[in-house]
Amino acid sequence: MSEVAQHLAEIRKSLPDHVTLLAVSKRQPLEKLHEAYAAGQRDFGENKVQELMEKVDQLPADIRWHLIGHLQTNKVKYIAPFVHLIHSVDSLKLLQEIEKRAAQNNRTIPVLLQMHIAEEESKFGLNAEELTELAEAALSGHFPHIELRGLMGMATFTEDEAQVRKEFGVLKGHFDHWKTHFPSFNTLSMGMSGDLEIAIEQGSTLVRVGTAIFGERNY
Ligand SMILES: *Cc1c(COP(=O)(O)O)cnc(C)c1O
Repeated sequence: MSEVAQHLAEIRKSLPDHVTLLAVSKRQPLEKLHEAYAAGQRDFGENKVQELMEKVDQLPADIRWHLIGHLQTNKVKYIAPFVHLIHSVDSLKLLQEIEKRAAQNNRTIPVLLQMHIAEEESKFGLNAEELTELAEAALSGHFPHIELRGLMGMATFTEDEAQVRKEFGVLKGHFDHWKTHFPSFNTLSMGMSGDLEIAIEQGSTLVRVGTAIFGERNY
């Protein structure tokens, strides 16, 4: 059994049935992705469109590819034909572009809205007010080719578990609120290698795990 397969088996054993394991394969060699695939893994996440496009052609066609990093509007067209779930929608402009490209491809694209919940400064992610704005735009029916599936967020990178717990709890609160408006809400994407237990305790339905499966990334 490969090391990757061993890690996957251990993590899967620790996950409740309702939690999806997304293997974050960014900056990992193809060989390790093949090992994960051979071990039954089908959901893979990348944070850059270019790297995603390079990998897609070299791996089996039944992989479900997730885009988890910041997405520029001019890159949406490349992934629109096949992407399984975009986790990182954080502007109206991006929603509009995804709508346009989804329509061109005759499909519906599932997306999550990314919230900024960490203490750390970041250019990415919505605050509560911006989230309301986007959710209301989506509710008004302007995006027939987009399915709003839920929310994504990253907690502060800290040893302080109480802080992480609080931030995931805030995200879960927003998720529960908007779920009452969107019947399609079924995914709360929170938790990474270092904080997945807390994320699950706080109601995560999808954990994005990189280094705990594949080891350190190549920089
Ligand atoms: C890299 C990345 C992950 C995975 O991080 P690990 O600590 O390696 O598990 C999860 N989510 C996002 C958005 C990432 O960019």
